Amino acid sequence: MENQKITGEDYFRDILYGPGDPFGTFSEKIERLFRLIDAVCEGVKPERFRTSLFKDLTKSEYREMQLAAWFLKIIDSEPLTGRVIYRIRDIVESSMMKFSGEELVLKANIFELHIDYNVLDGNYTVPVGEFTKYCTKISGSRFRLVYQSMEDGAVLIDDDLLRKIIREASVSFIKYLIEIIDRDIALEIFENFESTFQSLAKKAQNIKIETEMGPIDVESFPPCIKHYISDIRNGINLPHMGRFAMVSFLNKVGMKQEDIMGIFGTVPDFSARITEYQVRHVMGLISGIKYTPPKCETLRSNHLCYMGDDPICADERVKHPLTYYTIKKKKVQRKA
Ligand code: SF4
Repeated sequence: MENQKITGEDYFRDILYGPGDPFGTFSEKIERLFRLIDAVCEGVKPERFRTSLFKDLTKSEYREMQLAAWFLKIIDSEPLTGRVIYRIRDIVESSMMKFSGEELVLKANIFELHIDYNVLDGNYTVPVGEFTKYCTKISGSRFRLVYQSMEDGAVLIDDDLLRKIIREASVSFIKYLIEIIDRDIALEIFENFESTFQSLAKKAQNIKIETEMGPIDVESFPPCIKHYISDIRNGINLPHMGRFAMVSFLNKVGMKQEDIMGIFGTVPDFSARITEYQVRHVMGLISGIKYTPPKCETLRSNHLCYMGDDPICADERVKHPLTYYTIKKKKVQRKA
């Protein structure tokens, strides 16, 4: 028999789930997914872009997530991958609002969560390991294990928390797939869409470029940011807002994650894992939200302004450290 090449459609329809499994029209799914990724590349806000993908976590939508993982692996852009995954996460969380009780447990089962539902009190239990695996990714002390009630060695949770756990499980699922997918195989089975992938990869590069402010000119950093960097390098523990202002500033001017992490190398409470998570969070690589540093006024009221007699800081147009940087950089360039 002649060797037949596997297409993306064959893969999803026949290999992963077997013929006859209801996945819907493959070309429609592909097109919707491309449109979603394109919208994310273009920075279209979720409220302005509606999609029917990933909504109810049916078997078909579970496969939509798989498809998204394959596509993201092919496009191979870290900022885009983060944004798409978290767009999917938000869709999953809001669509889970219409489910509760046994139905919600069925949705959790899709991600192999072992949830028990108590019909009498309307609560659920989740094994400790699964609770900690997903709840450590949810911000807020009320989601820490120490504040939970236990029942027979499992954690008691309500609808709201179960929806959040499902949300985080969807993120882990897609990330895991991206990790294990072989990109060469992915490229081969989806080769019909090569030009679309190339154009999305090109657009994804712009995500970075748009936010960069040209080559980084450290000399043009405002006194506050220079002060924070120096404090950190000298082992002085900077308050949270100072760290936030510094990371968000450096990210906005285009510094790479590893270079920002390098500055934190000597922080007294340095923990590579926590710091990396915080840096990635501020950089928008986790939630897709890229933070902007606080205004001068806010930094001043938190005793984090170090303007001294700097004439640019004294300029009434300078209400933000990024404005300082733009003005100073232009001055330096004019002089050069
Ligand atoms: S005035 Fe603004 S830019 Fe200048 S040091 Fe203070 S906070 Fe930084």
